[in-house]
Amino acid sequence: MEIGSRRKPSRRPLPLFEEWRAVARRLRRAKHVAVFLDFDGTLAPRRRKPDQVRLKTATRRVLAQLAQDPRVTVKIISGRTLADLKKLADVPGVECLGLHGQEVDSERSSKLAASPILERARRQLAARLSGLSGIWIENKGPVFVVHYRGAPAAEVREAARAVEAVAAAFQPDLRMMPGSKIWEMLPGNFKNKGDAVKEALSRLPAATLPIYAGDDTTDEDAFKVLTKGITVKIGAGGFTAARYYLPRPEGVRVFLDRLQEELDSASPRTALAARSPAASEPVKESAAPRRSANAR
Ligand SMILES: [Mg+2]
Repeated sequence: MEIGSRRKPSRRPLPLFEEWRAVARRLRRAKHVAVFLDFDGTLAPRRRKPDQVRLKTATRRVLAQLAQDPRVTVKIISGRTLADLKKLADVPGVECLGLHGQEVDSERSSKLAASPILERARRQLAARLSGLSGIWIENKGPVFVVHYRGAPAAEVREAARAVEAVAAAFQPDLRMMPGSKIWEMLPGNFKNKGDAVKEALSRLPAATLPIYAGDDTTDEDAFKVLTKGITVKIGAGGFTAARYYLPRPEGVRVFLDRLQEELDSASPRTALAARSPAASEPVKESAAPRRSANAR
């Protein structure tokens, strides 16, 4: 297993707002729209520690407004646990899916527990990483995450070797998923975001137009299954299966505002009844794309 390995792209993503006419046409024609959104680095900018991340009021407001529209389904799908995600993104009408879609609302009562195998892997890895002060393990119950954001390069290399070794030793019961300055360790049979999105779509009208925005390697699974959807990678640089990109998470709120405007213009009477005056304020273009591969 090679940590951080990347697939060759089939094509380069297009800048979303420059392609807006084509996107808008599809939105106005859609009978139903399913908006799937990643949380960290997509709906909210990343911070040094996951508990410092917050959803902005303007983003929360547009999410709630979209979710009010009977033509729109909004779901937030994150690697966070459902309990954690709901604390940060509890928006009326918006469904949260935790642990990459493994944890859904209806399963709230049957809380997922850590498997003994994963526990054993976590203890082994914790012992091997104990001397590295910039590396820390987040125990999320059924999964755990090794964080290395801000750690010195030598520590990251040593941690990567330890993660690879432990992941290899516990295969196929354990799966390692690299993310943004993290390595996530999950039970081998856990769903990925692509599985979760497919399952959600199977319960929506057949003509539903899927939209997916995400910033991380875990979101690529969803981009790959939504070949006919409007897929948006957050962050410039790096390879992606998404059709479009937005350079920064700040653009996501603008995207959601525009999405709502297009739906409103397709059916203004419904819109007038459902929207508050604040929703029709003009929105500004986001900043020009940054060319750096390390946009985060
Ligand atoms: Mg993310």
